[in-house]
Amino acid sequence: MRVAGFVNDSITDGPGFRFTLFLQGCRRACPGCHNPDTWDPSGGSEMGAEEIFAKIARNPLLSGVTFSGGEPFLQAEALLPLAQKIKAAGLELAVYTGYTFEELQGLPEALPLMAEADVLVDGPFVAAQKSLELRFRGSANQRILDLPASLQAGRAVLLTDPRWTGEG
Ligand code: SF4
Repeated sequence: MRVAGFVNDSITDGPGFRFTLFLQGCRRACPGCHNPDTWDPSGGSEMGAEEIFAKIARNPLLSGVTFSGGEPFLQAEALLPLAQKIKAAGLELAVYTGYTFEELQGLPEALPLMAEADVLVDGPFVAAQKSLELRFRGSANQRILDLPASLQAGRAVLLTDPRWTGEG
């Protein structure tokens, strides 16, 4: 897969210490995007699932892994074996995407990766709705979704986990 970079112990992409993988490639060109270097699908560098998972397994303090970007779902097939290893290791998996949950439901290639992940932070970054008050999100249109519950219900279900919402 094409990778823009990674952070071994992020505290901004979900609760606890997280390994955040930034995937290379995005077609959205959101005005105000923080990572325009990730847009070119042929940029970044090539990394395999084994190589990335070895880095994750080396950190015993991780509470989860986050796929961000770029647009992770452009490489959904390549990410699937890595997602499966992460879940088998008992780690929470979150995916940040510029697609909405409703859009992803219409993309057959996205569904296997969605089935592995626990949390989906969905929707494009909208500069007009940007707020620094938002926990783990850049703009107010983005939602933090309980992915298993959403897939089961066939509609977007907001996550209620206080580690993510900061409420309760
Ligand atoms: S979806 Fe994310 S990476 Fe892509 S342009 Fe928008 S903010 Fe940037």
